[in-house]
Amino acid sequence: MLTLTCPYCGVAADETELHPGGEAHLARSGPDSADADFESYLFLRKNPRGVHFERWRHSHGCGKWFHAARDTRTMQVWGTYPAQVTEPPQDLLAAIADRTA
Ligand SMILES: [Zn+2]
Repeated sequence: MLTLTCPYCGVAADETELHPGGEAHLARSGPDSADADFESYLFLRKNPRGVHFERWRHSHGCGKWFHAARDTRTMQVWGTYPAQVTEPPQDLLAAIADRTA
């Protein structure tokens, strides 16, 4: 079972308390962008075998969106962080690099 710690309320929530929101850190493309960029924004998603940055909502808790770094092979959770950041925190990236190198 997947367990993620909500960075807002600190609850270690299992997956029945959470709602997935897909890939994190998407570059938004508006209607004035090039067709290829807009198509990429709407339809193309990474599906890595390994570390993946995802959006999750603590839907049966505080209700807030957050990001999580999870290994899709092992279900290992590297960490969670608020959804207001535009890229993963450097300390989280360093921890992932240290352990996967
Ligand atoms: Zn929460």
